[in-house]
Amino acid sequence: MGTCGNCERQFSIQRPWQKFCSKECRQAAQQERLSEKYICAYCGLGGSCIDEIPPLELQPMFSKLGMLEKYPITSIHCCSECKLALQYKPLWTFEQRKEYVKKWLKEHYKEYEEIDIQRVLALRLDY
Ligand SMILES: [Zn+2]
Ligand SMILES: [Zn+2]
Repeated sequence: MGTCGNCERQFSIQRPWQKFCSKECRQAAQQERLSEKYICAYCGLGGSCIDEIPPLELQPMFSKLGMLEKYPITSIHCCSECKLALQYKPLWTFEQRKEYVKKWLKEHYKEYEEIDIQRVLALRLDY
């Protein structure tokens, strides 16, 4: 059983990535997603978070150690899922973080290895 991401009713999940109980709910959520502020730079889905590189709380330390020259402060638009996945990961460049998210998504969908990651991402947009 799962909880519909739109109407929050319980429904039986037919597919592992299914997040909505019906086509109507999926479409409603899709509309919503289109209205989300940004496209996540890591996974390409809609999002409204900002990923700070390096993390805000570490910026004073980076500054003190003179590391900001090598790792300049960058703000990346991202979704909440990727932000969570990247939390506290010692990756200080966008490329490293993007690479990590790619691996993380693969790991996340490991049970469905036969599905290639692009397809999963496309389906995630669907369901
Ligand atoms: Zn629903
Ligand atoms: Zn994302």
